[in-house]
Amino acid sequence: MAHEVRPLSFDPGSLDGISADQITNHHGKKYSGYVTKLNEIEALLPQADKSKANASYSEFRELKREEPFSHNGIILHELYFANLGGDGAIDGGSDLAKKLAADFGSVDAFKEDMTAVGKSGRGWAVAAYSLLDGKIHTYLMDLHDIGGVFYTLPLLVLDVYEHAYYIDYKNDAPAYIAKFWNNVDWSVVAKRYADCVAMVGSRTAAELIGAKQLV
Ligand code: FE
Repeated sequence: MAHEVRPLSFDPGSLDGISADQITNHHGKKYSGYVTKLNEIEALLPQADKSKANASYSEFRELKREEPFSHNGIILHELYFANLGGDGAIDGGSDLAKKLAADFGSVDAFKEDMTAVGKSGRGWAVAAYSLLDGKIHTYLMDLHDIGGVFYTLPLLVLDVYEHAYYIDYKNDAPAYIAKFWNNVDWSVVAKRYADCVAMVGSRTAAELIGAKQLV
C-alpha cells in the first residue's frame, strides 16, 4: 500500500518561536516529498532487473541505496512533528525523567547533551532507547540514513537540517534548538519510553538478538 502523508497533530501557528510558515513548508513540502519518493521507489523496485545488480551502478543498487533515505526521512519527520506541540515541561517525577537522570545525570544534562548533538549534526539529533543495553543514547545523524544504530528506538527527535529553521532563523541553528525545547511534548516522549520498556520485558540482550548460549 502506498505511504501517505500523516497530518500534523498540532496547530502549526501554536508553537513558541517556530512559525506556521516554517512548519507548513517543512511538513507540506519537505516531509511530503519523501513520501512521494518512497512510493516511487517501491513502485520501481519490483521491475528493477536483479540480474544486473552491481555495486558500481545498477538500477537495483540505486533504488536500494535511496530506499532507506526516503523511508527514514518519513519516519524521522513523523516522530519529530509528533514530539512537537507541547509546552516543554517534563514531569520531574515521571519514569522518563528518572531514567534521563539515571543515564545522563539530570534532565538538564540530557538536554545539554542533545543540544550539543544538534549543534554538531547536519541532519538529526535523536535520543533513542537501546533494547539491548536498556539505556537512552543520543545519536548524531548527518543524513536520514547515516548515524542511527540498530536495536534502538527513537524517543525524542530533533530535526537540524537547515530546512527545519531557515525561514525563522536563517543559519542560526542554536537559536532554533533553544526554542525547540519550549515546544517538546514530553507526554509523547514518555509514552514512547514506556512502550520500549514494555516491549523488552524481562528479555536479555542475548535473547533479543537470538544469540546462542555457550555452555
Ligand atoms: Fe526536515
